[in-house]
Amino acid sequence: MPELPEVETTRRGLAPLLNQTVSQVVIRNPALRWPIPGHLPQTLLNQSLLELSRRGKYILARFDAGSLLLHLGMSGRICLLEKDEAPARHDHFDIHFRDGHVMRLRDPRRFGAVLWAGQEPGEHVLLKVLGPEPLDDGFTGAWLYRQLRNKTAPIKNAIMDSHLVVGVGNIYASESLFRSGIHPGTAANKVSKLRCETLVQEIKATLNDALLAGGSSLRDFFGADGNPGYFQQEYFVYGRTGQPCKVCGTPIKTVRLGQRSTFFCAHCQR
Ligand SMILES: [Zn+2]
Repeated sequence: MPELPEVETTRRGLAPLLNQTVSQVVIRNPALRWPIPGHLPQTLLNQSLLELSRRGKYILARFDAGSLLLHLGMSGRICLLEKDEAPARHDHFDIHFRDGHVMRLRDPRRFGAVLWAGQEPGEHVLLKVLGPEPLDDGFTGAWLYRQLRNKTAPIKNAIMDSHLVVGVGNIYASESLFRSGIHPGTAANKVSKLRCETLVQEIKATLNDALLAGGSSLRDFFGADGNPGYFQQEYFVYGRTGQPCKVCGTPIKTVRLGQRSTFFCAHCQR
């Protein structure tokens, strides 16, 4: 599943489209998680792309007429083509630009989204409820500690809740808890202020490491074989059940927390 680093890498990779003007919008299959609005071909025609930003796992593409919200869902990816090519089976949505570039959404499982958010995208129902960005300066240990005072859920579930903080998916939650030495099942309100400081630092570091691994362009990101870069990362615990901990050698354990597989080292994480 695309996580925050993959979405951010995608956003950066779309930079060649900035200030380009839309010549055509093609909706091949509108049946994504929500229907793609039928007015987009008309609304976006002759509009210039003014800004590409990200909020959580949403990419916001701002035009004069308003902002388009893009989400990659479970299996989506956005390709940037230098010129039009015949679409493949799961290529549901294109934006063509006058300079020849095509931005194409491929999404086999169709949990992704292409939505119109108008002039106040921050007020969109999907964005309004989101917590702060983990890489922003406002996301600090002291802030996290305050937020966790009345939360008894396991710390891993708490940091994966997008109302608390966005973009900490299963991989990054498991890895940052290992790097902080915190057992993922610890009740959130039992994590000390000092450990909240460490955890916030490690969440930022884990996401930044992934961003570096993702490459600086969509071409680097997908690699020659078309597979996204995030599969090539090295993890301490994620997906390593039964393998020796890279720090102490104890076999990595798995438990289910909040219906998600959780990987940890029972020796290093308390
Ligand atoms: Zn260990």
